[in-house]
Order: sequence, then structure tokens, then C-alpha cells
Amino acid sequence: MERTILNTLRAMDTSDGAGVRLKRALGYNPSVRLDPFLMLDAFSSDNPDDYIAGFPPHPHRGFETVTYLVEGHMRHRDHLGNEGDLKQGGVQWMTAGRGIIHEEMPQQKNGSLRGFQLWINLPAAEKMKPAKYRDIADTEMPRLDLASGGQVKALAGEVTIAGQRLSAPVKGGQADPLYLDVVLRPGETLAVPLTQGHNAFLYLFEGRVEVAGDAVDTHHLATFTDGDRVTLVAQKRGARLLLLAGKPLGEPIAQYGPFVMNTQDEINQALRDYRDGTLTAEPSLL
Ligand code: FE
Repeated sequence: MERTILNTLRAMDTSDGAGVRLKRALGYNPSVRLDPFLMLDAFSSDNPDDYIAGFPPHPHRGFETVTYLVEGHMRHRDHLGNEGDLKQGGVQWMTAGRGIIHEEMPQQKNGSLRGFQLWINLPAAEKMKPAKYRDIADTEMPRLDLASGGQVKALAGEVTIAGQRLSAPVKGGQADPLYLDVVLRPGETLAVPLTQGHNAFLYLFEGRVEVAGDAVDTHHLATFTDGDRVTLVAQKRGARLLLLAGKPLGEPIAQYGPFVMNTQDEINQALRDYRDGTLTAEPSLL
């Protein structure tokens, strides 16, 4: 069954970190969370004033952050001294688990910085596991060149499109996310199979696209009805979008900023642990 658009939401202009300007497509209102996805931020600017201050040291507990850099260069550093360079087209997959204190800083003085940060919730059984990182270079992610000129890049999950299997380095887990970066030429159509029962949405960051007759404009997020596929039709300027799907965890969510747990007691514990320096169970270096 074909998925259709359930809701269309305009991304909200906001700022985070030390004043990085961004558009929050998901997560500005708890009622528009899309289990297992908690938040999606889009940052895009040619003006260093919008991004140069970056995200100085801050904590996380209970979920995963997936940073995708479309353009630019950022460096990640955590409380244990782990460092990672995030370069054009690359992904950093961070499992905060029990806790992480890290900074995410632009490594450029000028030029364009464009990318996304997605938050994916962890099930209760995995919220307190040790933190883990995975850096995935642009070249490690599979791509499919469409006959009509567009391209699909798989950041996470597995999917078969036009008879070709795309299998990203990150796959599986309880949320089993599918994360695609899709570029479509003007008028191009793309059908993507999606697992029935998984929550799915798209975020359009260039152009305009139609899904089952309903249009989605730039900087809008569209959620879908259930079904086993979605068909995207790019309008006359073409389209570029993120397409995401994941298995809902179906657990209660208690959130306080960068801590996402199941109960308020667990949030209080996270705040105490952060205050006492035991959030990560390792001495804090930052
Ligand atoms: Fe962070």
C-alpha cells in the first residue's frame, strides 16, 4: 500500500550550542516526535557568524546522535579525548548510552557549512550502555545513480530500489533506521519500499516534491501514513531530501534537554550524575 502525507510541518528557525543558527524540523514540540526519532536539526549557512561558535562541551544520555555533514568540516572531541573529523559527505554515529560530554566545532573560518543532526531514541535496555562512536566516510556509503539522473545515498539501513540493493555500514538495532539522502532531477519519480509499521518522514531541503498528489516545499517535514512504499515526484526545480524510517520503540519518553530517558526519576538521576561528575562513569577531561 502506498504511503500518503499525514502532516506537513515547517522547520522552525532557532539556535543552539553557542549560537549556531539552525532549522529544527523535528523535536521543537514533543507532540511531533516521531518514535524512534526525537529531533532533526538542519544547519546551512555561507556566513561564518551563523556557525563559527559551534557546540562547546555539553552532555548527552539515553539516545543516539547522527551527524551528517553535506558540506564543510567539523571536529568532534569527547570527555575521554576521543577525536573525530567529520568531512564533506561523512556521518558520525554517536551512541551516547550512559553518558557522553563532548564538543562539536566547525573547523573552517569561512565557506559553506551544511548538514543535519538527527536524534534517535534508544530502548530502555540500551540507555545505560557505554558510549560508542562510529565515523563513516562519504566513500563508505553506497549510492545508486538513477536512470533519470538523480541519486540515492544510503546513510543507514538496507533498501532495494530499482532492483539494486543498497546496504549502509550502519544497520539493524531495535529502531532499525533507514536513512537516505535523495537527489531528484526536475520531474523525476522515485518509489522507495518502506517497512510496514515503521514511522517514516521526509525533510525537503531543496526544491519541491509531491507525494500521492500532495506537495512538500523546501524546509518542510512531511510525515506519512503507514504502508509499504512511498513514491516521490520532484517538481520543476528538482528536489533534495532526507527520507527516514524507523521502528517505533513504543516506550514512554521523559526528556530534559540532552537527556532522554523513560521516567522522570531517571532524568533526575541523570542531572545528579552530571552534577556529581559521574554521568559518564569516567573522569571528565573537558
Ligand atoms: Fe552533542
